Amino acid sequence: MSKVKSSNLGYPRIGEQREWKKALEQFWAGKLEEKSFLKEIEGIRLHHLQKQIDQGIDLIPVGDFSLYDHVLDTAVMFGLVPKRFEYDGGKVSLETYFDIARGTNGAVASQMTKWFNTNYHYIVPELDEVEPTLVENRPLQFYKEAKHKLDIEGKPVILGPITFIKLSKGYKDSDFKTIVNQFVPLYADILRELQKEGVEWVQIDEPILSTTLLKEEVALFNEVYQTLREAAPEVKIILQTYFESIEKYEDIVSLPVQGIGLDFVHDHGENLAALKKYGFPKDKVLAAGVIDGRNIWCANLDEKSSLLAEISEVVSKDRLLVQPSSSLLHVPVTVKSENTLDAVIKDALSFADEKLSEIVVLTKGLNAGKGTIHKEITASIKAIEELNESSFRNNRQVQEAIENLHSYKAEREAPFKIRQGFQEKAFQLPLLPTTSIGSFPQTQEVRKQRLKWRKGELTGEEYGTYIKAEINKWIEIQEELGLDVFVHGEFERTDMVEYFGEKLDGFQFTKFGWVQSYGSRCVKPPLIYGDVNYLKPMTVKETVYAQTLTDKPVKGMLTGPITILNWSFVRDDVSRYVVANQIALALRKEVETLEENGIHMIQVDEPALREGLPLKREKWESYLDAAVYAFKLATTSVQNGTQIHTHMCYSDFADIIDAIKALDADVISIETSRSHGELIHAFEENTYNKGIGLGVYDIHSPRIPKLEEMTRNIDRALQVLDPKLFWINPDCGLKTRGIDETVEALRVMVKAAEQTREKL
Ligand code: GLN
Ligand code: ZN
Repeated sequence: MSKVKSSNLGYPRIGEQREWKKALEQFWAGKLEEKSFLKEIEGIRLHHLQKQIDQGIDLIPVGDFSLYDHVLDTAVMFGLVPKRFEYDGGKVSLETYFDIARGTNGAVASQMTKWFNTNYHYIVPELDEVEPTLVENRPLQFYKEAKHKLDIEGKPVILGPITFIKLSKGYKDSDFKTIVNQFVPLYADILRELQKEGVEWVQIDEPILSTTLLKEEVALFNEVYQTLREAAPEVKIILQTYFESIEKYEDIVSLPVQGIGLDFVHDHGENLAALKKYGFPKDKVLAAGVIDGRNIWCANLDEKSSLLAEISEVVSKDRLLVQPSSSLLHVPVTVKSENTLDAVIKDALSFADEKLSEIVVLTKGLNAGKGTIHKEITASIKAIEELNESSFRNNRQVQEAIENLHSYKAEREAPFKIRQGFQEKAFQLPLLPTTSIGSFPQTQEVRKQRLKWRKGELTGEEYGTYIKAEINKWIEIQEELGLDVFVHGEFERTDMVEYFGEKLDGFQFTKFGWVQSYGSRCVKPPLIYGDVNYLKPMTVKETVYAQTLTDKPVKGMLTGPITILNWSFVRDDVSRYVVANQIALALRKEVETLEENGIHMIQVDEPALREGLPLKREKWESYLDAAVYAFKLATTSVQNGTQIHTHMCYSDFADIIDAIKALDADVISIETSRSHGELIHAFEENTYNKGIGLGVYDIHSPRIPKLEEMTRNIDRALQVLDPKLFWINPDCGLKTRGIDETVEALRVMVKAAEQTREKL
């Protein structure tokens, strides 16, 4: 008898102890030969497959693994190497691959941007001036590897052509269809070769199907997948969607493929409703994403069993796959290594490995009857109840403040024009003031000292003295460079969210809960497991200390409520907006305390504002309203003369410009250099009339930019922006850079500002 099968969509690359990251960084540093590096990486990749085999997953993804990013992998598979890098065709070398991602001395890296509404960044493929050819069949390679080394029939994962082109740049919108059709024969070749090898299932990811779609785009899906199916009729395609419900359900489930993957966790109930209303084609497999691939809480297995029971009323069991809602790339590897967490919290957690076991359990429940998984169901309910009933989630004081939000004023006292007058008087800054975004290099030494303090080898006082010395050093450097607005450098922070989480009530930290953010860079999002409460000042000591060392204004440096929310794993028993407002109220106290202590420029970073945008346009407004409200709740109780800054690490904000304006920050700084000049269009069409700092150089690359490059960036911006409102700063914080390159780049930046001032 045919049975329900379990499946996975993608497994974290980084390894339990971030082995992957370490190997990559050693290789980049020249400490590991290419051969040994590849050997080590192969070991990691196979180990990850082995773990999935051991868990008993039926359909194991292959080819989801990457050395940097799967979108870049797809691009190089088609020989898409931008002209500025060396390339003579054929398989793209490892060196070129990393050059595209990281830049070289002579050539800037490709742009990097967020993968849908996640904090994972992909490398944007550049389609201009290149001819796609299939230079290597990666899915085939990984399928063969898994088959020969582990004796499994893997399920190759491929990023689908329509999503791939949508995420690329370097073509006119009107050419979209033509370009897609240029790639279709290459995809057909991939599938034909897979068919020849005997591959049964492939997973083609088309997450674009979860965004707002046009009618002609649906038609294009039809044409494209018809062609692909005809090219390799024996390979069964699962068209995989995730992160939201699909639009135009009836059209999508009728596409000429053998399986459809739907997200039943982040769909707001819409996929399930559509499934029940319209049914599901009898000749297709439904890959049902029922376990949350984006969050780390254990599933209520009773509810999940019921959900699957509902689904199996529409789809017969032999055509059902049980799987996570998305790739597990977005969650850490395993809860097992977490031995310092409070048991109430730990029991309620589920990372990638635990999620796979939930999937296996649920599959068993469907096949052998719910009774057979009774024990697991009871345990999951108990874990969730215990956490919900704990004091962590029942802080009356915080809950009352949320009930009385209307009693907090979330508007500045006066409009910007009036505040501007007060602030000009207070700060007396030159035209085109120069500043930085907050962090200065977190050297090995800084990390070492922090580690020592964490281990108890340094007392709090000794560590405090060390941090002060760093602040001293960098205040001196900023003085010497001649910057106009200083920062203290954020040496006391490992991470801009973790730092605040450690000081607020309601947050918990894991030891190994890392997830990939971009390239080898991993982040360890805090868990917001309970009510968020302000306990004591968080940034006042360091900021005030820095201010005692200089006459230049020192900017206080906070992370905004939406960024803390979007970069954390958030409890799912209350609305995310309640959590955002709890954080905002805590930050409001910090802002007020900084001001009381003489800090009158305060930057509240919101680099993650945009990534929280719902995938569907219709849902944007409610998110943006809530985000703007939380930011203002945190920042607006200050006096007119206090200058609120904000910073965002991206440039494509033309479509959210109204929300950005509504934040009512006095100064905003944003990233521009990686947008290759595209940003400026947003300003030509939109009048932004508060202070604005455009990043004049890319901090993601170690290369020191030339003076002319920076002045060119500045000149271009000044064609559309009022010089009285214009600030000069790097793209983002400098914590990942070395000391010398940072000082040199800032020196060039100050020089560029001086030269431009003379011309005005
Ligand atoms: N203030 C932070 C820093 O300089 C901002 C980082 C960010 O925007 N991601 O590091
Ligand atoms: Zn930034």
